[in-house]
Amino acid sequence: MANSGPAQDATRPSPAVELMFPDQVIFLCFVVVISLLGVFVLLYEFRRKRFEPEPTEDRVFRCQDCAYVYTDDHDVDRSRCPECGLFNSPFVF
Ligand SMILES: [Zn+2]
Repeated sequence: MANSGPAQDATRPSPAVELMFPDQVIFLCFVVVISLLGVFVLLYEFRRKRFEPEPTEDRVFRCQDCAYVYTDDHDVDRSRCPECGLFNSPFVF
């Protein structure tokens, strides 16, 4: 009784061994397809990040004197108009 478990399993050809190969093939195909999709997504994101500019946090200024619209750095409170030189406050939408 104590010797019957593993010894019988080793001598008997198990149907699970033959069924394992299609499962492995399907799993390998699944892994390959998922890996290719992942590579394509990474390449697309890499190309998109390289070609599209980063969204800027610049402030928009509108000159009170000449109505010229321009942008400057985010941490600038008052920016000089490049057209007439007047200092302007950030434009609030
Ligand atoms: Zn101006």
